[in-house]
Amino acid sequence: CGIVGYIGQRKAYPILIKGLKRLEYRGYDSAGVALISDNQQLNVYKAKGKVTELEDFVTQKDISGTIGIAHTRWATHGEPCTANAHPHFSSSEKLALIHNGIIENYAVLKEKLQAKGYIFKSNTDTEVLVQLIEYIQETNHVSLLAAVQLALGEVVGAYAIAVLDKEHPDEIIAARKSSPLVVGVGQDEFFLASDATPIVEYTDKVVYLKDEEIAVIHRGKDLKVVNLSNVEMTAEIKKVELNLGQ
Ligand code: GLU
Repeated sequence: CGIVGYIGQRKAYPILIKGLKRLEYRGYDSAGVALISDNQQLNVYKAKGKVTELEDFVTQKDISGTIGIAHTRWATHGEPCTANAHPHFSSSEKLALIHNGIIENYAVLKEKLQAKGYIFKSNTDTEVLVQLIEYIQETNHVSLLAAVQLALGEVVGAYAIAVLDKEHPDEIIAARKSSPLVVGVGQDEFFLASDATPIVEYTDKVVYLKDEEIAVIHRGKDLKVVNLSNVEMTAEIKKVELNLGQ
């Protein structure tokens, strides 16, 4: 039910956790985080229950990295448990994805991928998306962005997503349809969230993504927004003023 992302020069983990707490008011049953560590590992940690339980779980774990995505889940498909919590890995554990919303045609897509030998580790509708993206990347030999565009073209439903690819440690791909997603534009850093509350303490410049828009968030580059057909869209930067009451 909540999405947070960060890419920049600072340590991502504390920003992500603080952001998840800012989104707690939306309600959730589990929480998780994916980070590309300083030595290029894609680490995924998740826990059922509160964000504080996730924090307890990661004590002693590698939480390094200046790029990451984090999620609070409100289960729609699959019971609330650690395996169903997001982020979800692709089969090769090269990609990690978080998702708010519902993939309505997940069962058909899942069957197709299972027939091709893909093994699923959760009962969520979401996992089909990350598996499909990897499948497209591998069979079509296309970029992560192109694979996300093709995968979203096959999906029926509502989504706000963010994807990390271990082989592209300087990039977050995020997209939305019927579920909100906001990009915060800072100085040499970007933030991502379901609404502006986790972002405003870092920057007042935000881009509200529109339906079927994809944000290509790349370290050290300008924010690029494209649609599913790869037509470049204007990323209108708005100034947000939000009183956090503290
Ligand atoms: N449908 C997804 C699931 O059940 C995402 C739920 C959400 O929006 O948090 O895992």
